[in-house]
Amino acid sequence: GKIKGFFGLTSDISDRKATERMKDEFVSVVGHELRTPLTSIHGSLKLLSTQRLGSLSAKGYEIVDIALKNTDRLTRLINDVLDLERIESGRVTMERRPCDVEQLILQAVQSMQAMADSHRIDIVVESLTTTISVDPDHITQALTNLLSNAIKFSSEGATVWIRAIERETDVILSIRDHGRGIPSDKIETIFDRFQQVDSSDSRQRGGTGLGLAICKKIVQQHGGKIWVESTFGFGSTFFLTLPTS
Ligand code: ADP
Repeated sequence: GKIKGFFGLTSDISDRKATERMKDEFVSVVGHELRTPLTSIHGSLKLLSTQRLGSLSAKGYEIVDIALKNTDRLTRLINDVLDLERIESGRVTMERRPCDVEQLILQAVQSMQAMADSHRIDIVVESLTTTISVDPDHITQALTNLLSNAIKFSSEGATVWIRAIERETDVILSIRDHGRGIPSDKIETIFDRFQQVDSSDSRQRGGTGLGLAICKKIVQQHGGKIWVESTFGFGSTFFLTLPTS
């Protein structure tokens, strides 16, 4: 019953940390360097597409439009990569302050209303007026991304529900849809970077495969959890918890 000794093993991870830091810096520099010329390309293509510089043939217009959509996609991708890198490296800290849950939800719904209208989706809100201490911009960003996915993966004319419930120590928010659902073997992996159920999703639905990885980081930095329950073919419900204090 007496301790005779113990065995300990220590690994020096300074090299790994230094490599990670270099990688983060590289991603950040490349991201910013790409964004500047991309903004100029986007501006030029936009101007061409208005046909103010001269009229385009139908084929010419089609090609400019494709290039414009692709620069939009690339901009979204670069912004998401930079966002994720900033949150992961700890350069962005969560600026918490007391926020009304209902206001956070309404703000997210408002920014997704135009997309919902264009997909003819109804958003039903079941909210509550309680205060939680969170970074409002980042939580709204997470909710907006979850709503955008729910709209993207639902059929036209469907309904999406966003709901908040107060529990003893936290508030649980859920975003439910009756869309295409997620296969059970992908339930965990979709929260990792660049993981999409279908590799054509990024082209066809304009996603980057980084949205859920960003949501997970934001929620984790608030001390909360995020997960999904889904039946493939029948819809999904994404849950996130945020501690009340
Ligand atoms: P994306 O930009 O592709 O939407 P996300 O990280 O937000 O990237 O989501 C990753 C993948 O998870 C999506 O490409 C999709 O395959 C799946 N997914 C996310 N939300 C839903 C949903 N509500 N219904 C069905 N599939 C979803």
